[in-house]
Amino acid sequence: MIIGQGICGTFLSYYLEKEGKSLLVIDDNNSNSSSKIAAGIINPVTGRRLVTVWMADDVLPFAWNAYNEIGQELGITAISQKNIIDFFPNPFMRENFLQKIETGDKYVHAYPEQNHFNHLFNYEFGCGEIRPVYTAHLETLLPGWRKHLNQTNVLIEKIFELEKLEVDKDKIHYKGITANKIIFCDGTGSFENPFFKPLPFAPNKGEALLVEIPDLPAHHIYKKSMLLTPLEGKEANIFWMGASYIWDFDNAAPTPAFRESTEQMLQQWLKIPYKIIEHRSGLRPATLERRPFVGLHPMHESIGILNGMGTKGCSLAPFFARQLVDHLVYGMPIARDADIARFKKILAKDSPTNDH
Ligand SMILES: Cc1cc2nc3c(=O)[nH]c(=O)nc-3n(C[C@H](O)[C@H](O)[C@H](O)COP(=O)(O)OP(=O)(O)OC[C@H]3O[C@@H](n4cnc5c(N)ncnc54)[C@H](O)[C@@H]3O)c2cc1C
Repeated sequence: MIIGQGICGTFLSYYLEKEGKSLLVIDDNNSNSSSKIAAGIINPVTGRRLVTVWMADDVLPFAWNAYNEIGQELGITAISQKNIIDFFPNPFMRENFLQKIETGDKYVHAYPEQNHFNHLFNYEFGCGEIRPVYTAHLETLLPGWRKHLNQTNVLIEKIFELEKLEVDKDKIHYKGITANKIIFCDGTGSFENPFFKPLPFAPNKGEALLVEIPDLPAHHIYKKSMLLTPLEGKEANIFWMGASYIWDFDNAAPTPAFRESTEQMLQQWLKIPYKIIEHRSGLRPATLERRPFVGLHPMHESIGILNGMGTKGCSLAPFFARQLVDHLVYGMPIARDADIARFKKILAKDSPTNDH
């Protein structure tokens, strides 16, 4: 039994199905879940210093293959390569970028045609390219996989009620259904789950705008402090502009402050017409040490989790869904930095006992 069909629940159910396991996914189709708000960017570098992201060399090629494979099976484009054109917002960032190129970094490159984007954007300090960068098309993948789950009769579109869960040593029971395992892929839902609440979650709020820009080519992701990312499918000509990273917030709702500052940024940056059509906001299931939570509960072997993907769910979810399935089916180890066994002590101390 899998709770949640965000990007984690999608890949977990995909790989379990491939292993011939019988499964059931329960998902309430919340339109503000992190996976429905995300741009889907799979970026090999991060931050002002353009540091290579954790496990990039393993995770990025894995993600490219995984999205292509599931996309082919569903008859959709689930991923595209869209390199980032990075417009330097100031001389300091330009200098950082040039220094990184000089180190021979494999992801950070010069962009020889510096004037190529002059008719589209204002940029006084030049640009560079980050390559390869991918966008996962969650806007086509999530509904595509949901349709497949529906057609195979393994989706329950309802809220999962934790208080109705009964846990045995090697089984769980829920409303008349018995399963060997229950795996929580419920994003921010796990923050309140008594089995996993002790884990060091650190919710992070993010906002983004959807902007219609008919004359902007969709070949690239464009960056100037924020990212302007083309969406896929029926959302053609629609770009996602974001995001904010807020650790201290009152609620998950969109804020006028974000909308105003982002609109101002667009006005200064873009030379072509645009129209803002939507304002999205939600919470990322992030963690204090910026590493995911993967594996089975040390005190309850019938309960597991695939969560804590933070800002990087699109790149990390396929890789760790595969690791979790290999662990469940073949007993293979989970990467130590991701395995929740690292929190054995606090999970043992603060978790509920078995009901039976
Ligand atoms: C503004 C923003 C931009 C982002 N951009 C990117 C990006 O470009 N690239 C990237 O890699 N990551 C990005 N992220 C992060 C990314 O969205 C997350 O890491 C990822 O989506 C988490 O996926 P998940 O499956 O763990 O959780 P979720 O997407 O939250 O999925 C959980 C699912 O469980 C369901 N659920 C929860 N509780 C219950 C219940 N009780 N009963 C039934 N169903 C339930 C929800 O409805 C949902 O469908 C962004 C996040 C935000 C907020």
